[in-house]
Amino acid sequence: MKGKRNHEDANFNYLKEEWEASATCIHESHRISRFDRRAWRTVEHKACIRCLAKISEGRCSFDINEITKSFRDLALDFWSLVDIKDPDECWKWHGEKNKSGRGIVRWKRPFSFTNIIPAARASFWLAWGDIGTSFSVSRECGNPNCVNPLHLRGVGCGHLLMPESMEKFNLFFSARRLRFQTFAHREEHEERLRAIARKPLVIKEKSDLWIGDGTVEGLDD
Ligand SMILES: [Zn+2]
Ligand SMILES: [Zn+2]
Repeated sequence: MKGKRNHEDANFNYLKEEWEASATCIHESHRISRFDRRAWRTVEHKACIRCLAKISEGRCSFDINEITKSFRDLALDFWSLVDIKDPDECWKWHGEKNKSGRGIVRWKRPFSFTNIIPAARASFWLAWGDIGTSFSVSRECGNPNCVNPLHLRGVGCGHLLMPESMEKFNLFFSARRLRFQTFAHREEHEERLRAIARKPLVIKEKSDLWIGDGTVEGLDD
């Protein structure tokens, strides 16, 4: 299996950075130990070392169970506002947007001075990993409203670009499972999601999920 890295990453050197025990990572298995919730992070970029390893190996996951319990609702809130399609399609953001039309979420993240995070970065954080505050996220498909993590790349952190053959089945299966999970979550937390999206929210019939395209109806762009 062949892979390639972002050309911008020719000089990536996070492994040369010093590490320190720091703020916890939302990815459950990245804590230092069973009794220590903190994660190893690079001193300069504040990126989780284990997330950087995951990204540099090209591993992406939509599995909610890999997220630490206390962050699962946040993750499900986020994915509930995404039109989750197949892995190779664009996933449209249906949540809040800023004045220039870019998707945003209001999360307080460690080391961040603002609580407004671009939706693409939030998607990257949940599916690929926590790259701290300095590395940027680029969108390969060029669709400004897309938050499909497989269309996003972490620039400057040694991100392995996905080879065509990579775990297609698993990704397809996971995307479908996430669609069902968000359906149940939408039903249960409709009011909250409406407030987060700052728009009306109409839930689709469950039967439509089997053959439907995952669209959250009733939401404008
Ligand atoms: Zn991590
Ligand atoms: Zn896309």
